[in-house]
Amino acid sequence: MKLKNIPFFEKTTRPLLIAGPCSAESEEQLLAVAHALKGKEVSLFRAGIWKPRTRPGCFEGVGRPALEWMKRVKEECGLPLTVEVATAQHVEQALEAGIDVLWVGARTVTNPFAVQEVADALQGVDIPVLVKNPVNPDLELWIGAMERLYNAGVTRLGAIHRGFSSYAEKYFRNTPQWQIPLELRRRLPGIPMICDPSHIAGKRELVISLSQQALDLSFDGIMVETHCNPVCALSDSRQQVTPDELFMILDKLVRRSAVSDSGCFANYRSRMDSIDEQIMELLSKRMDISREIGVVKRENGYTVFQPSRYNDTMERCAAYCKGKNLDVEAVKTIFEAIHSESIRQQLRIVNEGNE
Ligand code: PEP
Ligand code: MN
Repeated sequence: MKLKNIPFFEKTTRPLLIAGPCSAESEEQLLAVAHALKGKEVSLFRAGIWKPRTRPGCFEGVGRPALEWMKRVKEECGLPLTVEVATAQHVEQALEAGIDVLWVGARTVTNPFAVQEVADALQGVDIPVLVKNPVNPDLELWIGAMERLYNAGVTRLGAIHRGFSSYAEKYFRNTPQWQIPLELRRRLPGIPMICDPSHIAGKRELVISLSQQALDLSFDGIMVETHCNPVCALSDSRQQVTPDELFMILDKLVRRSAVSDSGCFANYRSRMDSIDEQIMELLSKRMDISREIGVVKRENGYTVFQPSRYNDTMERCAAYCKGKNLDVEAVKTIFEAIHSESIRQQLRIVNEGNE
């Protein structure tokens, strides 16, 4: 994909900011937020016109009439506009209303039929489109949505990380998995990467720390749901901040430089590189032993996976971490990966004779 720049993002000093309410609820509500944000560093004014709700019976957006209110926002406050589209009809109406940037929501990105419908409706219209991650942590699905849009002629694409849903009892409404957007950026260099701390957090108190984390991971900007009276908001009331809270958050954010080729890291990096080499040397030796054990298992008819051995390894790992300034869960993840590679190697050996 050969992506072009999104004009509204060009002149902005980082982080670029998308702000506005979760939903357009009334003309007064929308204009109140817009006037409060006017003249500040807002790249795009957001509002949901058609709301994809998990359960029926919740506020589902006011639809087309809200596009007229959005036009007033632009006229009175000079703010470029972005709305979520999920169907061909949404696209048609948003384009007709002169919306500047579209975004495709997490639920829509999860469904290739829906994304294709949006892409078909955009055939030949090179409007910028921001693509949220799908609700499930599937990078290919996320990239696939961008490819569908790109194939329809959309060359100004951006990505939004809004976290991933999970069944478990959770601290975040949608758990962030930062490695996924970072891998997306590795695969699509130059794509603007926005973080949506509001939908990750689910509660306004966490918006600042998530925004800081995104900046520290070199995200280009943040999308923050902003409402003049969040407690009375018709959707996502717990996670919206007031314009004043938003300005306070922006004031407090520490902006660090992304440049990393300065000489100050050289000494540390060469020490790290040498440790990495030692780790790989040791891994290679460990895999040699694993393969030898594989031969023993094959010759004696033992199963490759030995649960007690696996549990012992994890317990030793946890014990070793104590007093070592190592995070047990992080180290366990590494050992799970090493163990699973050992098992893969041994499965090959055990099955060699069967092919
Ligand atoms: C939104 O931004 O209002 C929204 C519905 O987000 P998501 O698609 O991330 O749930
Ligand atoms: Mn919302």
